[in-house]
Amino acid sequence: MSQIHVLVINCGSSSVKFSIVDTASGQAVLTGLAERLLSAKASFKLNYRQQSEHFSLNAPYDHQAAVAELVQQLTRLELIDSISAVGHRVVHGGEKFSQPTLITAKVKATINELAHLAPLHNPANLTGIEAAEKALEHLPQVAVFDTAFHQSMPEKAYLYGLPYELYQEHAIRRYGFHGSSHAFVAGQAADFIGKPLSQCSFISAHLGNGCSITAVKGGQSIDSSMGFTPLEGVMMGSRSGDLDPGIIFHLIDHLGYSPDEVQQLLNKKSGLLGLSGLSNDCRELEQAAFEENNTRAKLALEIFCYRIAKYIAALSASLTSLDGLIFTGGIGENSSYVREQILNQLSLLNFHIDQDKNRDTRFGKSDDISTPSSRYALVIPTNEEGVIASQSYQVLQEAK
Ligand code: ADP
Repeated sequence: MSQIHVLVINCGSSSVKFSIVDTASGQAVLTGLAERLLSAKASFKLNYRQQSEHFSLNAPYDHQAAVAELVQQLTRLELIDSISAVGHRVVHGGEKFSQPTLITAKVKATINELAHLAPLHNPANLTGIEAAEKALEHLPQVAVFDTAFHQSMPEKAYLYGLPYELYQEHAIRRYGFHGSSHAFVAGQAADFIGKPLSQCSFISAHLGNGCSITAVKGGQSIDSSMGFTPLEGVMMGSRSGDLDPGIIFHLIDHLGYSPDEVQQLLNKKSGLLGLSGLSNDCRELEQAAFEENNTRAKLALEIFCYRIAKYIAALSASLTSLDGLIFTGGIGENSSYVREQILNQLSLLNFHIDQDKNRDTRFGKSDDISTPSSRYALVIPTNEEGVIASQSYQVLQEAK
């Protein structure tokens, strides 16, 4: 087989998301998910050539078993020999990694050392790396970090107003996340408007379950809404985003919350879910708000859009010019309602929406939804797996 494929693995605490990406087209030829690992309900799903296969797994499967199952399936589908590398999404690279990196024992030790910065993510990512090393020991493994793209942020953007020693001694600073997505859509947006990326300034809004906004100047991140953890910034599906830290003391000192309960509350029970009392899923909330006239769902969506618009306006202060705004992620690519609410809030920045274009965006295609007198308002489909695959392949080429 002549195609060059990279197996992309994104390992969560109880799931392994995977895809095989053709590096020439950037498109996935196979996708799948092993989920509810370590429970009696573990399952494994595979999509290949318009067919979906679904297996329930009898034993309480762990990550190792899920990757072994994946290798078995890829062997059965005769895809295993076409894979040249494994690319792993790693959430936190701290200040140690500003580039995709070939995985060695030292790199794994560093990812492990950085686990205190991302206790929910880095240990799971490491588990995926070790499982893949074991099952596919003949293949090079590459780590692609969510934070790497934001290492170009200047000090004034990444430092908090806290004692400087906390940064020096404990690496407490802003890092930014969703780097692969922001980098990719900025490149696509430059192509779309026909201007070299090095001369472009964009604000990119990645709106999925997690949401972050980034100012990208000349292809580099110069500021971003997520901070020390992905909790900072705009409101999200189940995360609160920014709040007065005084609320945390109040919850602990006066309402009897434990630190762990506060962590759960802010990460898992807030945002769209907390405000609506219904769901963290934007599509479900739009249905409830507009088909069932659910006022809490409406309120949650209104706050969500307002807070995003405020962040976009705030991040515009980091730029000296602005070519346009980019919407991406599940919500950014698909919700005409959310895009409209956000753009209507930003007329002062000269964003004006074309209602017809906004309604008629084509699934999976880039589009401009602005009026002729407006700055660009672009809808650009992201492809995080494609970026991880192409960067992994590039690392191998450079290592040769
Ligand atoms: P993740 O961050 O987990 O990768 P996605 O980028 O897939 O998530 O985004 C998931 C979000 O996208 C969900 O809130 C979902 O409701 C929303 N979404 C997907 N399709 C639509 C749609 N047609 N209209 C509104 N929201 C949508």
